[in-house]
Amino acid sequence: MTATCSKRYLSSLGRTAAACYEAGMTAGENNRDLAAMSERLLTRRAELRALSDSARDSRKPVELDQSKVGRLSRMDAMQDQAMAQESERRRKGELLRIGAALERIKSDDYGYCVSCDEDIAQARLDLDPAVATCINCASRSKS
Ligand SMILES: [Zn+2]
Repeated sequence: MTATCSKRYLSSLGRTAAACYEAGMTAGENNRDLAAMSERLLTRRAELRALSDSARDSRKPVELDQSKVGRLSRMDAMQDQAMAQESERRRKGELLRIGAALERIKSDDYGYCVSCDEDIAQARLDLDPAVATCINCASRSKS
């Protein structure tokens, strides 16, 4: 048996990843740089929150500003508002995913597919540190 720190192997032993590394085992995909991933997630979260704050005004209900009539019609203003609300909705969704990923880091579940428990490829996490499923499960749920 190769001593790789797979989640299944660990749970079969009732051990944590740290104990596994201490025992000098080969850590495969799960030897994640959790500190770096956590850092990226926190940075992205701060960015999203800042964006959300700076866009707050554009989500306000459209007021009929007489001084703007002619320059920016009410229709345009409403369209802008709808777009701002849609961006906010997407930001909220991403913030939720980031929060969940940070929770998984804390609970030692980070980097494993939430759906099948397999390792998520590091390249996939590099692209999106908040990703929660492996490529197989992601493509399954899309089809
Ligand atoms: Zn999966």
